[in-house]
Amino acid sequence: MRIARYTTGEDPTYGLVDGAGEKIARISGDPLYQPISLTGETSMVEEVRLLAPVIPRSKVIGIGRNYAEHAREMGGETPAEPLMFLIPNTAVVGPGDPVVMPPQSTNVHYEGELAVVIGRMCKDVAPEDVARVVFGYTCANDVTARDLQRSDGQWARAKGFDTFCPLGPWIETELDTSSVRLRTRRDEEVVQDGTTGDMIHDVAHLVSYASQAFTLLPGDVILTGTPEGVGPVEAGQRVEVQIEGIGTLSNPFVRHDD
Ligand code: MG
Repeated sequence: MRIARYTTGEDPTYGLVDGAGEKIARISGDPLYQPISLTGETSMVEEVRLLAPVIPRSKVIGIGRNYAEHAREMGGETPAEPLMFLIPNTAVVGPGDPVVMPPQSTNVHYEGELAVVIGRMCKDVAPEDVARVVFGYTCANDVTARDLQRSDGQWARAKGFDTFCPLGPWIETELDTSSVRLRTRRDEEVVQDGTTGDMIHDVAHLVSYASQAFTLLPGDVILTGTPEGVGPVEAGQRVEVQIEGIGTLSNPFVRHDD
């Protein structure tokens, strides 16, 4: 199933998107907490405003350097264990929402990533049990102020600015993540073209590892790292993250100080 969160001008609601990504069938309640129940109302996707498919109630967990070629382009070693960081949930925005580049940074980068959405409260989950706690998958852009990431040492500010965590366009609940193609476009240019098969630590390992440290709650999101090809974005450009089997997340980048 593809589960979208959207609005037609009123309160946000949820719906099931068809395979073509054209129609949306409204469901009642929040599918993270209630069984899926269709209301009978349908809309065209192009006529609604898609929102971030989940607003993490407690946390977004990022994973750094989870693809060897990306670790190399960053000039660092590949960590033996997953390198975790936290992004505040106030950084999350949805499909089409502008990423606002802050005046503190002159070097803002895109990072296209597969995002895992947690469906159940859990702790100390074994890798073989991870499928039971995963709700689904969506596309993410782990936007990073590269200059501040280097100068701060800690990554909280560099990756945590408001609007720096676009998610969407919807959550795909059925996806074999062992080898899906991930492409990022900056305007028309393909700048990242990777496969999740090249992750150093796979989804099961990442979720298990994170759960050894943190209690995971429904709606928590884990970003699984970015393949090689990261680079800067200028105001006025648009970045698209496309993941095979999910869809395309597209966001314009803006500066308010221009
Ligand atoms: Mg990243």
